[in-house]
Parts: sequence; structure tokens; C-alpha cells
Amino acid sequence: MQNITAPNATDATNLGLWIDGAWQTGESTIDIENPATGQTIAKVATAGEAQVNKAVAAAKAAFEDGRWHKLSPGERSQVLAKLADLLEENTDTFARIESEDTGKPYAFISKGGDVPFAVDNLRYFAAAARDTGGGRAGEYNTAYTSILRREPVGVTVGIAPWNYPLLMAVWKIGPALAAGCTSIIKPSEMTPRTALLLAELAKQAGLPDGVLNVITGNADTGKLLVGHPDVNMVSLTGSSETGKYIMKSAADTLKRIHLELGGKAPLIVFDDADIELAAEKAAFGGFINSGHDCTAATRILVHQAVADKFQQAIIEQAKNFTVGDPFDDNTQMGSLISAKQLERVSGFVERAKTKGAKVLFGGEKLAINDGHFYSPTLLTDVNQQDEIVQNEVFGPVMTIQTFTSEDDALKLANDVPFGLAASVFTQDVKRSMRFAADLRFGTVWINDHLPLTSETPHGGFKQSGFGKDLSSEAVGDYLITKHVMVAL
Ligand code: NAD
Repeated sequence: MQNITAPNATDATNLGLWIDGAWQTGESTIDIENPATGQTIAKVATAGEAQVNKAVAAAKAAFEDGRWHKLSPGERSQVLAKLADLLEENTDTFARIESEDTGKPYAFISKGGDVPFAVDNLRYFAAAARDTGGGRAGEYNTAYTSILRREPVGVTVGIAPWNYPLLMAVWKIGPALAAGCTSIIKPSEMTPRTALLLAELAKQAGLPDGVLNVITGNADTGKLLVGHPDVNMVSLTGSSETGKYIMKSAADTLKRIHLELGGKAPLIVFDDADIELAAEKAAFGGFINSGHDCTAATRILVHQAVADKFQQAIIEQAKNFTVGDPFDDNTQMGSLISAKQLERVSGFVERAKTKGAKVLFGGEKLAINDGHFYSPTLLTDVNQQDEIVQNEVFGPVMTIQTFTSEDDALKLANDVPFGLAASVFTQDVKRSMRFAADLRFGTVWINDHLPLTSETPHGGFKQSGFGKDLSSEAVGDYLITKHVMVAL
């Protein structure tokens, strides 16, 4: 197993910024809290204007001299494949640090979720790097041959959230590097360590200096990156509010933007559905990762005829969803990310109660190890226009509404500003196809909720943003087409 070297050969409790292939000091430092214990566990440097400029200059120089995009596709692929191997070898280290930074279960991160999927994503992007070529060559005017080249966009910035810190960094780095771009990643200030350590692993994998830079900081650091004239593209995974800010401010320098934003996924249960399966998938889809998931099943829409049966089944699921110490192998749900997020989630539930919502299960803070824990929560008696139905809570909270017809179900499902993901539980193939076509969401699952693969695009409709993560479509988003016309 490779040793991960922290700055000054100390350890991962004291990290610098990763700029131009080396650890560098920042403008100041930020404390990293383990949200499952409330303890400060690390210090990480933060970037001010000087460090932002340095990172952009490094990425620009690395792009302009072609040290990355002028390698052969096979050579670039090998580096990404090696990075995937090194990450896999370091699974335990990355899973431990990710769990400490986010409060989510170590066993899930290391075995089923984040790290194995990040490794698989990198392997996919390593393969995708080998074929980013242009589409056509031909004589569209008989006096010329036209050739279409697909070239990297240039210097790219990836701004990531705190809910899947390593995965979200990989979803930005993988397609950018596969396309031949250079990259600056700004992880969330709450959870920056795995992205920083991944950059050091990338150097060990043979990535040339300056091609990947990781700088930590809050929204101000992000704003400096978005406004920088030498950055050609910004990809954000974050809230719709931040997406709107970036869209406006990127206009000043006409950058390409790519936005993966919030969600409010419906999970629709018809009267012919396998009710036990639907309840099991709803609990997993709504409570895993503490509900900090943009595709989380947050709005259950259940046919009136099976509403009672479904409610009993989902209450059982919620009761059995184990909340606790992230390092206990039996834990399915750890803490929320912060005291602030705990107040936000609890505030949504309390306000819903004052508007008449009934708590079927949970709805309370949990006193576990001085961490920021909240119970799996089920609410009924909510109205479609209530904020608990319309807005993203980003916690383990599901609302349950009923419907009596297909039209009714579709109307309720689509009637939110977001459009990231939705699911339908039914045995009727024709109905499932009708819903697959008519739901205005970027992903529609039939008889499941949440699974993703590296090969399939992930991204939103409506206020969930535009552009895709994962798949060849993501690589395409980091490429620009050039028409070369040769006079004959
Ligand atoms: P956030 O928007 O507050 O922050 C995301 C990132 O943007 C952070 O790194 C933050 O520092 C930075 N940022 C904040 N304001 C900025 C600004 N004005 N300019 C530049 N950068 C800025 O989101 P969050 O609270 O970290 O994450 C949760 C959000 O992310 C939720 O809305 C969730 O739905 C969304 N999300 C979406 C997807 C997806 O694939 N669509 C995946 C995961 C999370």
C-alpha cells in the first residue's frame, strides 16, 4: 500500500493547498470538525486571492505548453488508470478520512459506496480518454475538405459540495482530465481532505505538475475562481442558489458553465406495486447518506388504495434504519454534516408541523456522542405548495402524499422547481414507459431508486441545472469542436 504523504511529511490532520504538483501554504487555515463527535480533527489551509491566482497560473501554464493534452490518449489513459489503482489501494485511508469529515458510515464508504464507486468512475474516465475524437471528415463544399476536431476546453474549475466530497471531486477531475483539460478543484470548506489527498496520489500516478490543483476555501474562494479571466469553464455541484450566482457572474467573462444542482425527487408507488420492495427502496433512497443526496427520495406519492399498507411498511423500515457511530459496522446512517444543517433540517420539520403536518416517525434530534444527529423522519398531511414539499431539505426527511389517478400522480410529481431524479414503482410496463417519458427529471428509475453507473449520464432538468456528470456525455461537456477547412 502506498503511503499518503501530507505536507511536510506530517499527516492528514494538517494539510496545505495542492498547487503545481506540491503542497503550498495558504492565506489562513480552517478547522475541520468531525460532525459525528463535534471534535476538531484537522486544520486545512485556505486560499485567498494570491493562492487562487497561483493555482490558475499553474493550470494555464500546464494547458498552454500541452504537457497533458499533447500526450497520446493512451498515455493519458494510463495515468488515470494508475490513479484508480492507487485510490483502490488506499481505500481504508480515504474511507476513514471521508467518514471523519462527513460523519457518514465508514463501512458503506469503504465497501459499498463512495470509494469503490470513485475507483470505478476513474477507470471509466481512463477508458474514455482514449476516444474523445471528432466526428466527421468530408467534402461539404467540393473545393474543401472539412475536418471536425474535438479539443479540450482549457483551464477548468470544479466546485464541489460536502455530501460526497471524494466522489464529487472525481466527477469533475475524471472528465476534465480525460478530455485533456487542466483542472482546479475547490472542495467544500467543510470536507476538503480527500480531494487534496487525491491530488497527491495523482502525482504519484504520473500526472504532470499543474494539471490538477486543489485549493480549499469558502464561497469567497469560489467567487474568485468563477471571476478569473483565465478560467475557461466552471462546473459546480452545489445548491441551485449557488448555481444562479455562478451563471450570472460567469457572464462577465463568458465562461462555459456546467451545473449539477439541487433535487426534490418523487418516488411514486402505484396500487399494483410490490409494496415491501417500494418501502425498502424508499427508506434506502431517503435516509442513506443522512438524506444529504441530491437524488434522495424525498417525496413519496402513493396510490390511495395502498396508502395504509405502504405507511406501515415504511414505518417499519424507518424504525429499523440504524443511526449511530459511523465507525460501527451496523450503522446505516451517521450524523448530519454540521450543527447548522441540523438546525436547517429541524427547522423545516418544525415549520411543517405548525402548518398541519403529522409526524409518522422521527422528527427529532438525537443525542449521540455530541454529534449532529437527526432521526429518519416521515411526515404526512402536507400540501403540495408547502415549503417541505417544494424546497430541498437535504436531511433524512420524507413527505408522504396520496393520489388516485395517473394524471394526479404525474402532476404532483412534476410540480416542483427541480428536475434531477424520480422513480416509479409499478408492475405495469406500459404505465412505467408513460411515466418514463412524461416525468421531467434527468433520471427516472422503474422499481428502484438511487443506483448509478459510470457509463450513464447524471444531471438535471429545470432548476436542477444542465450538463452531465459521468458517462461520455460528461467528457463531451469538457470538449469544444473545431472545424478545420482545407482548400483542395
Ligand atoms: P453550496 O451551493 O452551498 O456549495 C457548493 C460549493 O460551492 C462549495 O464548495 C461552496 O464553497 C461553493 N460556493 C458557495 N457559494 C459560492 C459562490 N457564490 N461562488 C462560488 N462558489 C460558491 O452547496 P452545499 O451545501 O455544499 O451542497 C449541497 C447542495 O449540493 C444541495 O443543493 C445538493 O442538492 C447539491 N448537490 C447536487 C448534486 C447533483 O449531482 N446535482 C450532487 C450533490 C449535491
